[in-house]
Amino acid sequence: MMKEIVEVAVGLPVFKTFHYRIPEKMRDFLQIGMRVIVPFKGRKVTGFSIDLLDQPPRGVEEKLREVEALLDEAPLIDSQMLRFYRWISDYYLYPLGEVIKTGLPPGLQLKSELILSLTQNGMNSLNQGGLEPIQEKVFKEIGRCGKISLKKTLKLFIGEVSRSQLFSWKRKGFLNIDAGIEGKEVKPKFEKVVQYQGGEDSQLISKKQGEVLNWIKEKGEVSYSELSKRFKSPSKPLQILQAKGLLSISRREVCRDLSVRSELKPYPKPEPTSNQEAVLGEIIKGIYSKRFSPFLIFGVTGSGKTEIYLRAIEGVLAQGQEAIVLVPEISLTPQLLSRFKDRFGENLALLHSGLGRGERYDQWRRIWRGDVKIAMGARSAIFAPFKNVGIIIIDEEHDPSYKQEEKLKYHARDVAVVRAKQAEATLLLGSATPSLESFYNAEKGKFRLLHLPERIEGKPLPKVEVMDMRKEGGIISEKVKVALKKNIEDKKQSLLFLNRRGFANFILCPDCGHTFKCPNCSVTLTHHLRDRSLQCHYCDYRIPAPGDCPKCQGHRLQGMGIGTERLEQEIKSLFPETQVGRMDRDTTSRRRSHLQILKRLESGSIDILVGTQMIVKGHDFPNITFVGVVSADTSLHFPDFRSSERTFQLLTQVAGRAGRGEVLGEAVIQTFNPDHYSILRAKDHDYIGFFQEEIPFRKALGYPPFSRLINFRLIGNSEKRTKGMAEEMGRIGKTLLKKRYGKGIEVLGPSTAPFAKMRGKFRWQMLAKGESPQLLHQFAREIVSGMEVQIKGKGVNLDIDVDPVFIL
Ligand code: ADP
Ligand code: ZN
Repeated sequence: MMKEIVEVAVGLPVFKTFHYRIPEKMRDFLQIGMRVIVPFKGRKVTGFSIDLLDQPPRGVEEKLREVEALLDEAPLIDSQMLRFYRWISDYYLYPLGEVIKTGLPPGLQLKSELILSLTQNGMNSLNQGGLEPIQEKVFKEIGRCGKISLKKTLKLFIGEVSRSQLFSWKRKGFLNIDAGIEGKEVKPKFEKVVQYQGGEDSQLISKKQGEVLNWIKEKGEVSYSELSKRFKSPSKPLQILQAKGLLSISRREVCRDLSVRSELKPYPKPEPTSNQEAVLGEIIKGIYSKRFSPFLIFGVTGSGKTEIYLRAIEGVLAQGQEAIVLVPEISLTPQLLSRFKDRFGENLALLHSGLGRGERYDQWRRIWRGDVKIAMGARSAIFAPFKNVGIIIIDEEHDPSYKQEEKLKYHARDVAVVRAKQAEATLLLGSATPSLESFYNAEKGKFRLLHLPERIEGKPLPKVEVMDMRKEGGIISEKVKVALKKNIEDKKQSLLFLNRRGFANFILCPDCGHTFKCPNCSVTLTHHLRDRSLQCHYCDYRIPAPGDCPKCQGHRLQGMGIGTERLEQEIKSLFPETQVGRMDRDTTSRRRSHLQILKRLESGSIDILVGTQMIVKGHDFPNITFVGVVSADTSLHFPDFRSSERTFQLLTQVAGRAGRGEVLGEAVIQTFNPDHYSILRAKDHDYIGFFQEEIPFRKALGYPPFSRLINFRLIGNSEKRTKGMAEEMGRIGKTLLKKRYGKGIEVLGPSTAPFAKMRGKFRWQMLAKGESPQLLHQFAREIVSGMEVQIKGKGVNLDIDVDPVFIL
């Protein structure tokens, strides 16, 4: 019997799922994993069919409404993916429909919107005249369009008309406001292709038809767009030739052009070293076992990890299985990409946010249809819809960009563990500076540790020196100046790393102490010289840079703290004859500008490259022999228990960029904290030493990997209400602790979040810490359900951040 009821997870922030009746005509087609449109609270929304039932669950029979529309012909998600999505929804306390949305390419979900149209009464009033001027203006526009979305109307008449005004006109009978579907869906792109069918050429055809036919015959198959480039208006002859049966015309799905051709130098395929051979042997055993086999490759920069990934994938492909490769910010690593392209050619799909919506959709479909066996991308590639994943590789597994910081706050590395486990696949985490969690897991035997202690060909790691900036004046120490100068003379290249963009960090009036703050965020504005502005790096608020102090009219405004823009200027004035480049968000905002800078670096037309952490990512340029860290202190002071770890990782990775070629590399780290263990251990490339020094701190303070954290953050428009809600949350938390959680859970706060205001919203938080994930999750669920009632309609949101910890 055909199932009559479908369970739907709507793509909205609601935890519950809902049941709908399936209309007769849909029953043959609707399957689990397809998208449907369903009525929901007076709107129409997209949801995902997650189960089919014979009967409605008890107690909801009479309330059931019907599915309005079915959007897909084939399921977008299979049962394996659904199981994965369910796990994530559970772990991160995030609605299933929203989790699924996160995993699908953008542009697949249709949005329900309120649509305005004029009533007869409204039309009459418009024709008769005598309306208020603004009413007349708005009605005219609605009348002109017939139908227009409420959102668009508000945008069109911003500052002139409000939502409540529109609704009052509805009450007066001038307007209809209905739920409708805004169709902005991305669709596959098709092109017409023409094929030669053979047959008799001697049939009577014109000269032009003959030319067209001959050309197609030569090529066998051509696209219509090629054809129209070659011949003027080819439609007519085509039609005739088709009618004669000489040609056939069909439609073919095409991929929107993707610039993934390797543009950098090709990489030959090397023979593995004996170290690589040994590591690979282990991994291949894991792959052949077809069981969950997690590995952590701990290998210094340049030790040949990437070559191991490539060969492991070859093994997986040979088994008829698929591979997912996660890399941090793939758009920043064209070198890595071209190595994969060189090895696997077209068998590779790319998923990352640097692609346009259409491109991303096409790449996703190539995976979904099974056209490719390898998916490579940033964190969201973990949702690649493969059916038979044999390996998941996570390069630079410690990288913070694997954590999504908004909406669903998943950590790609951690969910990768789960996906690999569910798929009984091999998991390969790789890093020169593994996250503390992963290394701890390896120590505990949860991951197999594979060590590559040496660089390829025994190239030594760079020699690193620490400069105590308390004893130096200026931005650049003598030591760094000398090193840069020497490199210029030797025709070698240098990198200068500074983790802050802009000219000055902030501007201060020395007469009255005034600084410029962002009105939306609790930060100071950064001074940018190029467009003479002060900018907020969090919300993009910007104002022209002032000449005088607006408070005391003083003339002595001063830039404090330096950014990459200032550093670049400084270097240019120190070495006027030298080619200096800069790479940060400001110089790479245009598409491909990043690649242009790297190409200039590769070809040697940049001698010194100044940049933010963008320059740290996996580039391998043999002629770079010197790296200077202008300030190691920014990340050290960040209010986060991982700040020491991040600093160590960053410094080790930056220094690792030096000396990848024949010449011994050198690095200098400038700091005001020369005795800090993060800095000293990075100087010695001593990961194990750092790990052993950091672990006792984590243990003493009960931080991961010794505990799990859940942060409950309240974000609201009103300062007072957000604070009130936070206090309420604190009370609920206390009661829960008293009732049953007091033993296993510790609660910190509520208190204002580290950035108390962000993008115009006020932020409070409460942190729960505990060793048992089950207990912590139960506690969290109770907080969420307790707060759901409180929050309803108050303009405050509860945002939950489950700290990624080991989940095996
Ligand atoms: P990692 O990913 O650990 O930083 P890579 O795989 O990028 O290391 O290797 C560093 C350099 O050594 C690259 O230029 C790479 O082409 C080269 N390489 C890797 N494996 C070998 C090998 N077996 N023989 C020769 N060169 C190799
Ligand atoms: Zn701001």
